[in-house]
Amino acid sequence: MAPAKEKKNYVTLMMIPHNAGKTFCAQLSLPLLVIIGVLWLVTIGISSFILTQRVNYETVKRANIQLTEKNAYFIQELAKSHEAFQRVAKIEEELQAMLKMKTRKALLEYTGEGGPTMADQVQLMQTLKNRSAITENEFDQSLGYLRKSATENVDTYNELKKYVATQRSLLASRPTSWPVRGWITSRFGMRQPPFWDGLTFHQGLDIANEEGSSVKAPADGIVIYSGWQGSYGKLIVIDHGYGYSTRYGHLQRSLVNIGQRVKRGQVIAFLGTTGRSTAPHMHFEIRNHGVPVDPLKYLKQ
Ligand SMILES: [Zn+2]
Repeated sequence: MAPAKEKKNYVTLMMIPHNAGKTFCAQLSLPLLVIIGVLWLVTIGISSFILTQRVNYETVKRANIQLTEKNAYFIQELAKSHEAFQRVAKIEEELQAMLKMKTRKALLEYTGEGGPTMADQVQLMQTLKNRSAITENEFDQSLGYLRKSATENVDTYNELKKYVATQRSLLASRPTSWPVRGWITSRFGMRQPPFWDGLTFHQGLDIANEEGSSVKAPADGIVIYSGWQGSYGKLIVIDHGYGYSTRYGHLQRSLVNIGQRVKRGQVIAFLGTTGRSTAPHMHFEIRNHGVPVDPLKYLKQ
């Protein structure tokens, strides 16, 4: 009964064609079938593995291309930032030259400050422009330059701000507005005085008008005197800072007190004929560091 027992470990595969052709019949032993099955599974497994790897490879490759593109774009943007900073630095230099200020370059040379120069920055930028990749070191260096440029810009703008503020304050302090409307009856300089006591030096400008005409401050300042002062009659003295002071004589009435701050154009008094005066007029003086100067050289025409 051995053959019958042997047949137990066999299976029969049968293929019957529909066109009633020859029937295909194969007898396979079970262990062989198991081996074929295992091989089939292994083949499927390996194929799936290879396919997955291929898909992963394609994904990584695409991501890599995108990263390279991003990197190149990033470098170009970095180079553009450097260019923008250089344009700002150039405008700063021009502005400082226009204002006759010391440029940053001159100041740096003066203080002997070290560190990377503008030339280094330009060179790095030129190198980056034609590249699609950047090293960590170059990136650090590049960011360092940008940070330094930004700090320097802030410094320059602060300097400019200070300069403009000083200039504005200086301008506001310059007595350039007419203090009262009227007719000039006596100019600054040598003259025959109305009292016939010899040739004297007239230290101001006499402006005649009706009594009670408004007298306005010709610039911002602080009142340092308001009261009677001999031949000046009722007098106001204003200190404008930067060495400038102005005097208003023969006033009818003062509207300000000592220590009071006044603005350009503010009415400070009324025109009169107090003190050594023959007719209503105001004696107006401008002094620079205490020395009387010709008001007509300061007042706007
Ligand atoms: Zn006078």
